[in-house]
Amino acid sequence: MLQPQLVSLHGPGDLDILLIAGVHGNELTPMKVLPDLYHKSEKEADYYKRLTFLIGANPYALEERKREGKYEEKDDLNRSFHTSYDSKKELKELIDLHQIVIDVHSSPRCCNLVLFDNDQFAPSLYQWCKKTGLTYACRNFNGDTIKKYVLSKGKIGLTVELCGTKMPTFGNIDTGAAFLRKLLRDLHLIKILIPNNDGSPKTWVDILSPAEGIISYFDGILGKRSVKGEAIGVINDFQGRPRNSIVMPCTGTVVDLPDTDYIKMGEIVASIQPD
Ligand SMILES: [Zn+2]
Repeated sequence: MLQPQLVSLHGPGDLDILLIAGVHGNELTPMKVLPDLYHKSEKEADYYKRLTFLIGANPYALEERKREGKYEEKDDLNRSFHTSYDSKKELKELIDLHQIVIDVHSSPRCCNLVLFDNDQFAPSLYQWCKKTGLTYACRNFNGDTIKKYVLSKGKIGLTVELCGTKMPTFGNIDTGAAFLRKLLRDLHLIKILIPNNDGSPKTWVDILSPAEGIISYFDGILGKRSVKGEAIGVINDFQGRPRNSIVMPCTGTVVDLPDTDYIKMGEIVASIQPD
C-alpha cells in the first residue's frame, strides 16, 4: 500500500500553507508536480513561514487509480478515505493546523486554473484572480470539498486544477509547477470578504456539440481568451470533412475540452469561463 508523504519546509516569511495532492486517485499530475514544487520551494523560502506538502492523501484510491476510496461516506470532504488519512477527522486535524490550504487536482484536458464555486466566497476569489491574472473557472457546485471546509473556517482555501492527460500519463509538470509557484507568490494579495456581493463572476458555460463527429481544434486555444462569435474548433464527419464550427457563445477563456476526439451530438465540446 502506498503511504501518504507529509513534509514541511520552514522559512522566514508570514504564510502558513498546506498543499495537498492525491485526493482523487485518478488524477496523477499533482503527484508529480508537488514533489517538483517542493524542491523548487526549498530555494524560495522568503514568503512562507511553513509550507507543508501532503502527497498522496488518498492512497487506496491512488493504488486503484480510481477517483474515490474504498468506503463511501456521506460527509466526505470530496472523497472517501482509507488507511492513513482514512478519516475525515485526521485530515481535518492537519487542515486545521494551517492557515491556507490548497487542494491540487488535475483534469484530462483543462488548462491550469483556480476552480471555485458560485457561492458567497466567489467574489473574493474572482477579484483575486483578476488582480493576479491567474486563470480561473467558476462553477455551480455544492460538493463537500476541502476548499469549502477551509473557507467556512474563515481561512483561505483553494482548489487548483492542473492540466492533465489521460492516465497513466501526466500533464506537463513544468507548467503545473510554474502555475503553483505564481499562485503561492500571489497569495498575499488575497482577501476573503464575506459576505461580498460585489463583482460576482459569471459561471462557466458549456458548449454542446451540434453534431456527432471528430473534433478538430485550432492550435493553442486551451487556456486562451477568445471573443464572442470566434470559431475555436471544427467538428469533422467520419470522412474527415468539416461539418460544424464550434463558436464562442461569449467572450472568455477556454478552460476545458473533452479528452477524446470523438464526440456525440449534445455532449460537451468545450467549457468557457466568461470574462
Ligand atoms: Zn479531482
